[in-house]
Amino acid sequence: MKMHDVQAALCTSDLGNEMMRLIARLFPICRSITGKGFRDTLTILQELIPLQVHEVPTGTLVFDWTVPKEWNIRDAYIKNSSGERVIDFQKCNLHVVGYSLPVRKRVSLDELKAHLFTLPEYPDWIPYRTAYYKEDWGFCLSHNHFLALTDETYDVCIDASLETGHLSYGEYYLPGRTENEILISCHACHPSLCNDNLSGIALSAFLAKFLRTHSLRYSYRFLFIPGTIGSITWLALNEKAAARVTHGLVVAGVGDPGKMTYKKSRRGNAEIDRAVAHVLQHSGAPYEVIDFFPYGYDERQYCSPGFDLAVGCLMRTPHGRYPEYHTSADNLNLVRPECLENSFGIYLTVLRVLEGNFKFSATHPKCEPQLGKRGLYAAIGGSTDSAKKQLAMLWVLNLCDGQNRLLDIAERANIHFDVIKDLADLLVDHNLLKAGP
Ligand code: ZN
Repeated sequence: MKMHDVQAALCTSDLGNEMMRLIARLFPICRSITGKGFRDTLTILQELIPLQVHEVPTGTLVFDWTVPKEWNIRDAYIKNSSGERVIDFQKCNLHVVGYSLPVRKRVSLDELKAHLFTLPEYPDWIPYRTAYYKEDWGFCLSHNHFLALTDETYDVCIDASLETGHLSYGEYYLPGRTENEILISCHACHPSLCNDNLSGIALSAFLAKFLRTHSLRYSYRFLFIPGTIGSITWLALNEKAAARVTHGLVVAGVGDPGKMTYKKSRRGNAEIDRAVAHVLQHSGAPYEVIDFFPYGYDERQYCSPGFDLAVGCLMRTPHGRYPEYHTSADNLNLVRPECLENSFGIYLTVLRVLEGNFKFSATHPKCEPQLGKRGLYAAIGGSTDSAKKQLAMLWVLNLCDGQNRLLDIAERANIHFDVIKDLADLLVDHNLLKAGP
């Protein structure tokens, strides 16, 4: 079955709900950039795809960085003077600042306050905070909860360890007909946050599951990594593979109801940039394309000047531009199955463009070939858009000069790539086009 026949079938499938079920299952796990939560997440993903799990030892030098100590947490709480847990990690893992040092002591309210983080502008939400690369401890709580803390002293406990161990990441390599690779990368290092982290994980995993049953031109590499340190580690240990990355996408924030947003690669006019812009332009829905900037997700590392890979970031609402971002409100209610499924469809259409973007040459380049006698009007006639298809066929015949690729033609004719590709296939069947220059 061709990739786009399958996509038509997907429209009636349960894909959005399947992704949602995976997200709901991963949601309670306390992930961080290292540790058991990250590993448990990879183990669950291995039920869907044969993910290879890599373990990189603490202290490994990766360019200008060092693989950090491994962080694991079992329990944490703040108890009031009556011995009641007023903050309980078991109820919400966002309560503990990620990478907090272990602590167990009695503190005054004033001392405690120096370690508490709230969001006064959203007084019911718990913020998400981390203390990577600085050894400290802290708790996050809703502002209303904070205002209710009135005892003179509290017992704080963070039963965690920060020790020599490993940084784990998941990798799935799917070989295609060529060694040139398409990189699909997502961060998987956030605890109970849905859109930021889990939506990208779910979309990447289901994309990998889908592609592995298809014959592919490109080889694909899926990475499930801790943000920043994960991509730096992978790039440092895989410079040869990185050189084969022809196109790539960082998958993040793909489940919220906002419009699609594409952040271009540093190159700005790479084939991936043009393919995504084309697909979004013809998607029939609002979208935004923004230029590269050196902040955001792992595209920062893939697009560092020493690599300058053609990797963009395809998301819905960008990080920091929705109030729920990095708070307890980025939960199972923010992410919607239909938005996940819509994002999946956009990703698949982009990959279809990359897979099918070949050059063709017209076999009758001197004047138009006679289409009627070959039955080609009949082949595309009968449908309401047959006039459009006729014009598209003329564009294909005219621009297939061995120089243009099909995406060049789709852009210049302002016609969806899929239409151009189908007509090119039809013209090849009728010996009016041949592959290559
Ligand atoms: Zn984040």
